[in-house]
Amino acid sequence: MKTITHWIDGKPVESASGRHGAVYNPATGAQEKQVGFATVDEVDAAVAAAKAAFETWGVSSIAKRTAILFKYRELLDAHRDEIAELITAEHGKVHSDALGEVARGMEIVELACGISVQLKGELSTQVSTRVDVASIRQPLGVVAGITPFNFPAMVPMWMFPLAIACGNTFVLKPSEKDPSASFRLAELASEAGLPDGVLNIVQGDKVAVDRLLEHPDIEAVSFVGSTPIAKYIQLKAVEHGKRVQALGGAKNHMLVLPDADLDFAADQAINAAYGSAGERCMAVSVVVAVGDTGDELVAKIAERAKNLKIGPGNDPSSEMGPLITREHRDKVGSYVTSAAEQGAEVVVDGSGFTVEGHEDGFFIGVTLLDKVPVTADAYRDEIFGPVLAVVRAESYDEAVRLINDSRWGNGTAIFTRDGGAARRFQLEVKAGMVGVNVPIPVPVGYHSFGGWKDSLFGDLHIYGNDGIAFYTQGKVITTRWPDPADAGINLGFPSHS
Ligand code: NAD
Repeated sequence: MKTITHWIDGKPVESASGRHGAVYNPATGAQEKQVGFATVDEVDAAVAAAKAAFETWGVSSIAKRTAILFKYRELLDAHRDEIAELITAEHGKVHSDALGEVARGMEIVELACGISVQLKGELSTQVSTRVDVASIRQPLGVVAGITPFNFPAMVPMWMFPLAIACGNTFVLKPSEKDPSASFRLAELASEAGLPDGVLNIVQGDKVAVDRLLEHPDIEAVSFVGSTPIAKYIQLKAVEHGKRVQALGGAKNHMLVLPDADLDFAADQAINAAYGSAGERCMAVSVVVAVGDTGDELVAKIAERAKNLKIGPGNDPSSEMGPLITREHRDKVGSYVTSAAEQGAEVVVDGSGFTVEGHEDGFFIGVTLLDKVPVTADAYRDEIFGPVLAVVRAESYDEAVRLINDSRWGNGTAIFTRDGGAARRFQLEVKAGMVGVNVPIPVPVGYHSFGGWKDSLFGDLHIYGNDGIAFYTQGKVITTRWPDPADAGINLGFPSHS
């Protein structure tokens, strides 16, 4: 069985821990690979390699760094199919979706190629006689990233390209469920000319994560994953004196006003709820239908849901693949049962679904629930599967109150033809990313991504300008080149003249 290794100091390193995680092909349900889990010493070796590399990378020229990033971008472009295949084989998502993930990750590499513009400092001349002040930003040192299973290539690319473009060196701990894509990203970075030790990968579980959070040579930690772990990461990283951004889970609401184009809204609800089998932190998991068009909207969504083609991600005719593990599939199914018991109407029931010839795969069908009480588990929890809950609201105000009462605030969207209502929504809704007739408003690379409330712990969002601020520290330099006329002793407190 193939073993996926660490990537430390520019080469593969096999774990000596004897502890392994199983890596499945979710479409067949078979374990095809294993991944070796790091020991504390192996994490320390990766951090030591990153620390040594920082000595030269941290002072390397912007020209050198961006030349490598441009080459890297070209290599990613040439290998996008291969990376997408690795994603599909271990995550299960369909190939076109995996290709989309690679493209969205490459956006951050493209942003990093332009770091010369982003890292320009500020200069004020003659703030006082013959005195100039400059503000510059410098790298932090060794920074770490801990990433979830649902975007095994894109989320690591939200982090390391910008971090290294800013002059830092990086240690990544990818999800143990689908680690091959990020390993390939590191190999390609090396091929692009990235010096050994600048980008390292340690595979593993809590042992590796905890060591990264405690390690005195790690300056900052970026995390993306579930809310309970994001909270834990923030607290522990702060306890150990580190800068931290920890992005958590979500329950994203799509508000549909009665004046919306209902066919368009139904199409978009389907795409955003069931794409990637609902395993997206920006998936729409709740539709809030306002007014008396709710029945018509639910009928339109149901009609579309029933026709979706579910199958292996490497079959070009599949629109939706399996879930990540058998346990997760069973948990998602349990929400359909509990929703019915707790008062929801099950309009389309996806539980118990199998794909012919792939009976052991981690497949589930799509579920549509209507009139879901806000007390039901299917409304309150992040299900992270292809289950769409519809709740009804009498008015715009009631709908916004519902969204604002949610513990999460990652993304949200409004569907309407009314510009005034859309404008009010943008200003009134408590979420970090808002779509107007756009169901999954994931910002482009040069704007930052992040939620509010229990969807983000820390101050700065990820990538874009916030990402650059996160991976650099400011310094202000006040300079005077003395003129003979300045000579003489003056014990007074310096003031401007
Ligand atoms: P997860 O929280 O289980 O795991 C994320 C990472 O944390 C993995 O690398 C994992 O190994 C590590 N980890 C897990 N348990 C740990 C523990 N007890 N101690 C230390 N480290 C631990 O998340 P997941 O299941 O891989 O991903 C799905 C979750 O991620 C969903 O909640 C989803 O909403 C969220 N997510 C959020 C965003 C966002 O941008 N806000 C993006 C993608 C995914």
